[in-house]
Amino acid sequence: MKSDAIVVGSGPNGLAAAITLARAGCAVRVLEANSTIGGGARSAELTRPGFVHDLCSAIHPLARGSPFFRTLPLEHHGLKWIQPPIALAHPLDDGGAACLRQNLAAPNDSLGRDENAWRQMMRPLVRDWEKLAAEFLQPMLHFPRHPLALARFGLSALAPAAWLARRRFRDERARALFAGLAAHSFLPLDIAGSAAFGLVLGAAGHAVGWPLPQGGAQAISNALAAHLLELGGKIETDSRVENLAQVKEARAVLFDTTCWQFARIAAQELPRRYRRRLERFRHAPGVFKIDYALAAPLPWRAAECRAAGTIHLGGSLEEIAKSEREVANGRSPARPFVLVAQPSLFDESRAPHGQHTLWAYCHVPHGSTCDMTKAIEQQLERFAPGFRDCVLARHTTDAAGLERSNSNLLGGDINGGATHLWQLFARPVVSPAPYRTPLPGIYLCSASTPPGGGVHGMCGYHAAGTALRDLFG
Ligand SMILES: Cc1cc2nc3c(=O)[nH]c(=O)nc-3n(C[C@H](O)[C@H](O)[C@H](O)COP(=O)(O)OP(=O)(O)OC[C@H]3O[C@@H](n4cnc5c(N)ncnc54)[C@H](O)[C@@H]3O)c2cc1C
Repeated sequence: MKSDAIVVGSGPNGLAAAITLARAGCAVRVLEANSTIGGGARSAELTRPGFVHDLCSAIHPLARGSPFFRTLPLEHHGLKWIQPPIALAHPLDDGGAACLRQNLAAPNDSLGRDENAWRQMMRPLVRDWEKLAAEFLQPMLHFPRHPLALARFGLSALAPAAWLARRRFRDERARALFAGLAAHSFLPLDIAGSAAFGLVLGAAGHAVGWPLPQGGAQAISNALAAHLLELGGKIETDSRVENLAQVKEARAVLFDTTCWQFARIAAQELPRRYRRRLERFRHAPGVFKIDYALAAPLPWRAAECRAAGTIHLGGSLEEIAKSEREVANGRSPARPFVLVAQPSLFDESRAPHGQHTLWAYCHVPHGSTCDMTKAIEQQLERFAPGFRDCVLARHTTDAAGLERSNSNLLGGDINGGATHLWQLFARPVVSPAPYRTPLPGIYLCSASTPPGGGVHGMCGYHAAGTALRDLFG
């Protein structure tokens, strides 16, 4: 079949690119290697029948806050957001928990003496959220439309997360809460720029919440796909693209693959210098993930954890910083920082009545084959004593397993490349339109391009915009 455009890969960025092209009137075809659509936003019964687990993404501040997704009729196609009463809880060894509550103005005594300091840090970012989201969800190299808001953000964002937390907060609770947010970056917390992730994710939590889609992450992909089909687009699953000859009939081809896969697929055609740049793009560390079927909700020691969609397990700032530093140095931490989501507490469709699902992962060195089950379960048991008695079944996935389920997850890297400062500018090359490759009509649109990882579709949206300007006038 002839198409104006082919998109290779049906992750959130691939589907966003395809929708953008279809909206402009192009005939679009999406070719997906897997038998199911959605890439990093998929759900399946991994453990037992009736337990619906998220294969990758589970919590979606960036999807909820995505300037592009907000223009789409996703709710019309069945997407329903659920906001847990507490966005994020961070339990500590004293039996309490620091919390991120969506309403920044509401009292938050979980932060003790730092309640106001937290509010002061977040208030300008939450106030400017729309402006800031538009600025940082695009290539770094651009003329800012909101320079003041961006400069205010940049002053703190460029700092190391550990330094900023110690400077802003007096006590362990707020410091630990901020460290957990910043650790989403996969960066050591003592390097420049690591604070940016803590600020963005914290501000997003207050501005749009940390919601989960009813039915799981697959609901986002299904809604995007339904809208694409409505616009006349086509999706073909079980269609892996191995070389450019397979897609040569289209005027525009957009690759929702990592830059390393693209370098391999187009190895013969790409100029050597550009190919080497892609090959040298640095990987982020990987993840080790466990999905649980549970007989009962987790017996959290801190009551706040029972009302939170996301829980960060890692204790103090110092402990989290140590664990992230170990990962960066190529070691698997004995006490890892563990990210946990408990969707079935707020969405009955995720497990049989009275039973539950739990999603947990920790960071590991890139490509690690280390089994982190014991280390993750020790952290769960530490903050929810009796956790093991709730487990009906578990499904573990190491870096290699992740890569088998989605070839974009090379070595367990979930973000299409490391997010240290240089690679935020050069993603994967320094350019105001880094989606363009040296090959006419061929573009990159995955998380290896700006603004990077997460379910927001903005890489696909910007890449398709570039293609439309270049080729379709
Ligand atoms: C364990 C885990 C937890 C995560 N948690 C969150 C979270 O809670 N919130 C959040 O916002 N983000 C989260 N993420 C990150 C998020 O899933 C990704 O950043 C996002 O999916 C990237 O989107 P993408 O479209 O660039 O690529 P992907 O979603 O990876 O999609 C790429 C698609 O391309 C297909 N493909 C690859 N190569 C080919 C080929 N040669 N031919 C045809 N098809 C091909 C793949 O099969 C896949 O479907 C998580 C990721 C993982 C792995």
